[in-house]
Amino acid sequence: MFIEPEGWDTVEVYINGFSTSLPEEVQHEALRKVPGFENARFFRPGYAVEYDYFPPTQLKHNLETKLVPRLFFAGQINGTTGYEEAACQGLMAGMNAHLSVRGEAPFLLDRSQAYMGVLIDDLITKGTEEPYRMFTSRAEFRLTLRQDNADRRLTEFGRSYGLIDDAQWKRYSDKMNAVTEADAWLSAQSVEPDAANAYLDEMGTAPLKQRGPLDQLVARPQLSLSGILEHIGQEVPSFSEEVWEQVEIGRKYSGYIEKELEQVEKLKRLENLKIPAAFSFEKITALSMESRQKLAKIRPETLGQASRISGVSPADVQILMVHLGR
Ligand SMILES: Cc1cc2nc3c(=O)[nH]c(=O)nc-3n(C[C@H](O)[C@H](O)[C@H](O)COP(=O)(O)OP(=O)(O)OC[C@H]3O[C@@H](n4cnc5c(N)ncnc54)[C@H](O)[C@@H]3O)c2cc1C
Repeated sequence: MFIEPEGWDTVEVYINGFSTSLPEEVQHEALRKVPGFENARFFRPGYAVEYDYFPPTQLKHNLETKLVPRLFFAGQINGTTGYEEAACQGLMAGMNAHLSVRGEAPFLLDRSQAYMGVLIDDLITKGTEEPYRMFTSRAEFRLTLRQDNADRRLTEFGRSYGLIDDAQWKRYSDKMNAVTEADAWLSAQSVEPDAANAYLDEMGTAPLKQRGPLDQLVARPQLSLSGILEHIGQEVPSFSEEVWEQVEIGRKYSGYIEKELEQVEKLKRLENLKIPAAFSFEKITALSMESRQKLAKIRPETLGQASRISGVSPADVQILMVHLGR
């Protein structure tokens, strides 16, 4: 429990970690059992807010309801809780309502492109039994979904929908050009043992035996790009810290990132296999009964979405693939 003072001039504290909606008397008794709180008095008891929601498995990927065309749902009505959860759905539902009215293709993000994509896919594929919060642990591609590369993942979409103004776009484009330049510069550098070995020794990593590429040093866990650049006595082009950060992350974790990208590609292949809206899951007797019932209820829009429904096995996915003519 964290005891958080409510202000300078009050004895009131917020008991973070004691959230409960049990009856007031029970709350009093429970708190007074905590050492140090034997004489605690309540200003206000804890409480719960109940609300109703529509099972979000009734939504399409663009947050449009399957039953009522052009009715879009976002936020708490879909069983989520939280400001950001509501805000991102509002953005996606709003954009898609607009696109739908104009007869344009929907704007969808998949699980490898944004946490918004994970949230919406979880909701429409798995539904939710209790208020849904967007935890990072819900995402499988966490090397790709990083805070530092949110601009690289999403700015171009924003620009294409008119949400990124010229000044912002220029800032982003300049940064990306600089990252490319800085990365190319790094690739072209090599370093002499004499220039690097004292520093490598100090950092507890093996010395160089001969002149070698600078970028290979970046991959060593003991070394940081800024540390290396500071100590090798070479002239370094001046790029901002955030530019070097992108270069460093790209180099340091390239092996892991590549492996994850392979997984992403696999996901995309399944995601690209669309299931027609009128597809009759009930008739495919080769599918398990559970699988047939769940597929018929949720009506996934892609094979990727179908594969994430609990109870739908990899064998079921193979069967669906055959029936979809693949
Ligand atoms: C006490 C409390 C504390 C919270 N603290 C946090 C927190 O610290 N951090 C956090 O992330 N989240 C918090 N939440 C959760 C968060 O506030 C909600 O999940 C989020 O605001 C939901 O946004 P929403 O747009 O989906 O719904 P709402 O914000 O509820 O918006 C729905 C809107 O629809 C309007 N409306 C309803 N019926 C009609 C109608 N028939 N016609 C027209 N309009 C209608 C309502 O007036 C309301 O303005 C808290 C919630 C509560 C209740």
